[in-house]
Order: sequence, then structure tokens, then C-alpha cells
Amino acid sequence: MGSQSKDRMELLRIERDVKECKNCDLWKTRTKPVVGDGLLDAPVMFIGEAPGYHEDLQGKPFVGKAGKLFDELLLSIGLQRKNVYVANVLKCRPPDNRDPLDSEIKACTPFLDRQLVLIQPRVIVTLGNFAWSYISKKFGLPMERIGKIHGYVFRIKALLFDSQVVPMYHPAAAVYNLELKKELLDDFKTIIKTMA
Ligand code: URA
Ligand code: SF4
Repeated sequence: MGSQSKDRMELLRIERDVKECKNCDLWKTRTKPVVGDGLLDAPVMFIGEAPGYHEDLQGKPFVGKAGKLFDELLLSIGLQRKNVYVANVLKCRPPDNRDPLDSEIKACTPFLDRQLVLIQPRVIVTLGNFAWSYISKKFGLPMERIGKIHGYVFRIKALLFDSQVVPMYHPAAAVYNLELKKELLDDFKTIIKTMA
């Protein structure tokens, strides 16, 4: 079997396992889980926080207001959803979009880990504090708040792949904040430089 079809099988297994998952209580209140979306061998993988209202209804990541801004940011560097992969720290929506609990992050992130190993992106972009907190702890990177550390590029050597990580603000924080939107537009240019 070619590696492409092996990868596709693992993606299907991840999707099935998330759909059947009851490892934390969020499955009880969700409508649809949001596994992730995009290109299997994407050079860039984005990691958000958790599904919101619209994502929970549609089962796709970043389809609400923050998603519109996310599309705009991608387009600003000539990319589209089909060129990248997008996932979240949590696969099910927390009620009323409350912050993820530590116990939920612990229960859910084995799925994100499997996605990272499957996609092996050259660049990992974390969006917001929760994604950065998880990735920085996992790879021994500085655990600074996003306001301080956004836009910096970190090199990581994992068991199976080398990658670069760029922490950024969460697009939801920039929907009504032009200053943050400017910072995000600026940080997105870093993605292109990192891929070169
Ligand atoms: N916010 C996120 O962090 N992820 C989504 O998929 C949508 C909004
Ligand atoms: Fe399972 Fe993650 Fe959903 Fe919790 S949030 S039920 S761990 S898939």
C-alpha cells in the first residue's frame, strides 16, 4: 500500500475515533465534533482552540466570524483552505464557548498528536493562548503569553519530524480589533518566510 493511502486510512481512523469518543463530557452537549479539515500533506498546519457555535453545527473548523477573518489572513499570503490543514485543541464545543478545562485538553489532545504525526507539517501555527500553551509545553518552548511571544519562530525536533512553530493571536480576538488584525497580518507574512 502506498504511503498516501496509508495516510488516508489513518485520517479516517482519527475521524472515526473522534466521532465515537467519550473521553470527556463535551460529547454530551456537542452537535457535531470538529476533527479538522484540509490537505493531508499540507506544509502548514494551524491549531485553534475549540469549535464555536457555527463549527459545532457544521462539523468544520473556523466557519464563523473568526473563520472569515482567518480566510482573509490566508488570502493575504496567497493561501486557501485547500493548501493548509486546520485543527483545534478540542474537537467538541465547550458549552457557551467557555474556556477549555485542563481535564478536557488532557483527554482530547491525543487526537491532535495523531494529526501532527500524520501531517508532519513543516510549519505549525498556533492560534491563541490555548494552542500555544499545549504546543509549548509539549516541545519545551517558552511558556509566555501570546501577547509577548506572537510572531517568533521556534524550531522543534520531534521524534518523527522537524518543524517550525509560530505562535499567533487568535483571529477571534482580532475580529473587532484593528490593532490585533494588523499584528496578525504581519505575523502571517512570517509563514511565507518560514516556508521558503
Ligand atoms: N475558534 C477556534 O479556535 N476554532 C474554530 O474552529 C473556530 C473558532
Ligand atoms: Fe472526546 Fe475530545 Fe470530544 Fe472530549 S472534546 S468527547 S475528548 S473528542
